[in-house]
Amino acid sequence: MSEVVLSIRDLKQHFAIGGGLFSKKKYVYAVDGVSLDIKTGETLGLVGESGCGKSTVGRTLLKLYEPTSGKIFFEGRDITDLSVKEMANLRKEMQIIFQDPMESLNSRHTVGGIMAEPFEIHGIGTPEERRVWVEELLVKVGLPKTAADRYPHEFSGGQRQRIGIARAIALKPKIIVCDEAVSALDVSVQSQIVNLLLDLQQEMNLALIFIAHDLSVVKHISDRIAVMYLGKIVEIGDAETLYRTPKHPYTQALISAIPNPDPRKRNKRIILKGDVPSPMDPPDGCHFNARCMHATDICRQTRPELIALDNQGHQAACHLVQPDD
Ligand code: SF4
Repeated sequence: MSEVVLSIRDLKQHFAIGGGLFSKKKYVYAVDGVSLDIKTGETLGLVGESGCGKSTVGRTLLKLYEPTSGKIFFEGRDITDLSVKEMANLRKEMQIIFQDPMESLNSRHTVGGIMAEPFEIHGIGTPEERRVWVEELLVKVGLPKTAADRYPHEFSGGQRQRIGIARAIALKPKIIVCDEAVSALDVSVQSQIVNLLLDLQQEMNLALIFIAHDLSVVKHISDRIAVMYLGKIVEIGDAETLYRTPKHPYTQALISAIPNPDPRKRNKRIILKGDVPSPMDPPDGCHFNARCMHATDICRQTRPELIALDNQGHQAACHLVQPDD
């Protein structure tokens, strides 16, 4: 049985905006009470439309943002209130890969310089050793050793993402958050990067949190999937169960949008009305009620909690959903 590497409990991230002389402070309820456990060697897909809070969950659980409330545990240790200085050592264990690697790759430095940085920050190795490690990492992610002497802008998007991955794995982390890591890439390059991540995961027994707005991207790689809507998880379960028998109407709509090349297996597409409401002013009751074709009065008044549907970890938050027999 794999061990839980990271847990979050009732995590909230409310960003304050405004609050000047003439305006009242308002809050963006980006993450509003999310609980998750991520195990060693597991891939958890975190999906939902833009604005649902999935990237904020990823960044808050790494403590790149200080949580408003809730708890974060790394290997059983409560790290919620650790200072930046206290987190410095833990940063080795918890990494992130961004959608646009250019954001994290300093364009004025060579790839070798960028990749040696994590070792320098943590005072690991001599310059000669770092050079060797950088070359080994480049080869591991499918790039030539000579890439170390070039600059990020000289590479394609897929190659830059390989550099981002090499940097993320340099210090042998235990968990990596992949924040829309393949969303900007062509489909063929996407699958190469996904395969690389899966190979590295196996080799290093990594826990991966794979954040994507597109369920078809996470479908094949996730052990479990959590679906988010307006700051909350509305359904979670093992990937196969979630795809075979999605219970929440939002999950059903997302799954219906996945293209199936086999015309005999194509589902009727469920078209959602409108966009995700503003996280500054979430609707009463079920946050999804304005877009849900099954909404009734109770949905507009009472917020449904996540309930267990089986004893395998499948949960959904919807008044219409009952536990399996
Ligand atoms: Fe739809 Fe109601 Fe279920 Fe929300 S609680 S998803 S509005 S049926």
